[in-house]
Amino acid sequence: MRQIPLSMPFNAPPPAVFCPVCGKRVLSTEGAPTPCEHVVYIWHSDAGLVHAAAAAAHRLQQLGERCKAEDAAATLKAEHQFALDISYGGMACGPIWYQVQVGFDFHPEAAA
Ligand SMILES: [Zn+2]
Repeated sequence: MRQIPLSMPFNAPPPAVFCPVCGKRVLSTEGAPTPCEHVVYIWHSDAGLVHAAAAAAHRLQQLGERCKAEDAAATLKAEHQFALDISYGGMACGPIWYQVQVGFDFHPEAAA
């Protein structure tokens, strides 16, 4: 699995993420994720697995609420897959950090 770690500056808004293949916005600063066919999974530190493509869904859904970022990333085995692993945070009662991970597949037809 290949992961690209990114850290947003403290107090920066949650990241908007666009698919590097088709350009669709798959994650916005507000609202539900809108995954395209190239998104294998979306995992958030607050909510766990929020999206899994059909090819990865069975394995990830077996883990259910126990699904961790590394479990989701382990589904990326092909050379044409990678994950963006983004940390961002701000002030609540104190400093708080979140992690969001989006797995991409540049050739999803191969998984079918
Ligand atoms: Zn796409």
